[in-house]
Amino acid sequence: MHVCVTGGAGFIGGHLCRRLLNEGHRVTAVDNFDPFYPRAIKEEGIEDFPRERFTLIEADIGDTDALLHALHARSVDAIVHLAARAGVRPSIEAPMAYEETNVGGTQSMLEVAQKLGIDTFIYGSSSSVYGTNDTVPFAEADPVGEPISPYAATKRSGELLAHTFHHLYGLTVHCLRFFTVYGPCQRPDQAIHRFARQLLTDQPITMYGDGTSRRDYTYVADIVDGIVRSLRRAKNRDAPEYEIINLGGSETTQLKDLIAGIGEAMGISPEIKQLPTQPGDVERTYADISKAQELLGYAPDTPIDEGLQKFADWVKDYYADRPVLEV
Ligand code: NAD
Repeated sequence: MHVCVTGGAGFIGGHLCRRLLNEGHRVTAVDNFDPFYPRAIKEEGIEDFPRERFTLIEADIGDTDALLHALHARSVDAIVHLAARAGVRPSIEAPMAYEETNVGGTQSMLEVAQKLGIDTFIYGSSSSVYGTNDTVPFAEADPVGEPISPYAATKRSGELLAHTFHHLYGLTVHCLRFFTVYGPCQRPDQAIHRFARQLLTDQPITMYGDGTSRRDYTYVADIVDGIVRSLRRAKNRDAPEYEIINLGGSETTQLKDLIAGIGEAMGISPEIKQLPTQPGDVERTYADISKAQELLGYAPDTPIDEGLQKFADWVKDYYADRPVLEV
């Protein structure tokens, strides 16, 4: 299979490209190395890829013509669309930029798929679309009409745009709603990575709220496994389908336990500084993964302590010979 991975130099994208390459597939990554966080982290994640089967196109997903030109002769079988501006809090600061990349960019990639006859489009959506949903666990049939951050609204918009192209042009679309993903190369703005840097630089850990908020944390290899299973299902179908599927870890962890866990994994006892809850943050996320189990055979199997240890080993190694990014 030849898979185009947008955001292929990013955190999840880099891990996905590695898994696909390890399975013998060809991969074309599209990434513009958005300066949201340092290029070095992205480059480290992809530097050892076999160049005979891996191509990197440094381009903006919004540049439809450039991508049509770059991809038209490459016989791509599927697009996994992960490029986005990610993160809830920064989306409140720059909503227009989020709209441009996450809505305009997704529209552009759908057009690329349609014009090049690529019949499979896997979209990286987010648990944030569930907003303040108070029915747990979150199921795909739950209402998602009330997002509480620009980021969440743009991710839901992407799902809607993808549905339109499924309907009009017969694309098979899977919108995979990822629940807080962590692991090596994690984005520096995400809580686990921030906590680790605070520990490494002897700062107190800034905890928003009283520490009782809960998240469904999912180890990146489990998410990648779900994406690969989704690709397989999509490519083995005779008729097009549109499915929204949760990919989570299926158990929740309280913020204060997460902080204790990362402290343990790093071997540093955390001091905590409590701050008010941030606007746009949801109180809890919890994935109902029964649909993913049924359709994809998805079965995440990385316990949080094991995943945190893998992350801690990476983060200590990464910052061993470079300055720790400011928190
Ligand atoms: P990331 O920022 O590490 O990866 C995104 C990549 O997209 C980056 O390498 C960036 O350079 C690239 N990019 C951004 N704008 C672009 C543009 N205009 N053109 C081309 N490339 C562009 O983020 P991530 O955590 O790996 O997230 C990947 C996807 O998963 C995103 O769509 C995100 O919304 C979604 N998601 C992530 C999480 C999570 O916990 N990490 C949770 C839910 C959903």
